[in-house]
Amino acid sequence: MFHDFINLLYPKLCCSCETTLNTNENILCTSCLHELPIADHHLEKDNPVEKIFYGRIPVENATSLLLFEKKGMVQKLIHNLKYRGHKEVGPFLGAWLGSELKELSAWQEITVVVPVPLHRKKLRIRGFNQVAGFGQEIAKSLEVPYRDDLLLKITATKTQTIKKRLARWGTIDETFIIHNSSSLENAHVLLVDDLVTTGATLEACAQKLLKIPNLRISIATMAVTH
Ligand SMILES: [Zn+2]
Repeated sequence: MFHDFINLLYPKLCCSCETTLNTNENILCTSCLHELPIADHHLEKDNPVEKIFYGRIPVENATSLLLFEKKGMVQKLIHNLKYRGHKEVGPFLGAWLGSELKELSAWQEITVVVPVPLHRKKLRIRGFNQVAGFGQEIAKSLEVPYRDDLLLKITATKTQTIKKRLARWGTIDETFIIHNSSSLENAHVLLVDDLVTTGATLEACAQKLLKIPNLRISIATMAVTH
């Protein structure tokens, strides 16, 4: 009854269509949940996410849970997560994908889950990394640690920035660095992100990580553009 009362004051809304959720619904209303465009690329060999990285970086496994379309349901869902404080979307999608990955032998070799980092200025503004809940739930399912303290995003040093600005006017140069790289030797890192489009960010992260001896990379994202 108390729950119903709270719900009356602050109705929970569907993170896609924004209708009021029933007490037995969570994050998405039943109709949105059924219409959600599922990619489940981990069930395919040579899948579209793996293909994004062909010839660029060696990737052991790569998948996305959902298909992203401009103005579609998944765009709304991710927008609600990133900009409208619906933090619960991340763990929801992470638990979902994690429950599927833990059944697949290829994904059992992962030893650590690492999120694509946000620059600390952005982190301060947004208050959280939108990938955290997603990555933490996958880590829980695979029974491996979640580490957001190893791969960091920084602004390039001044001299580098000036040099690059001379080459490319108006761009801000950000780059990735690794802390405590010895702890990642021989690791099989699962890099997680919200959306993969061109794969440029994930590639940049992977290139840094692949300098560590004997490190392998897999990739999982909430969604992929198609
Ligand atoms: Zn809905």
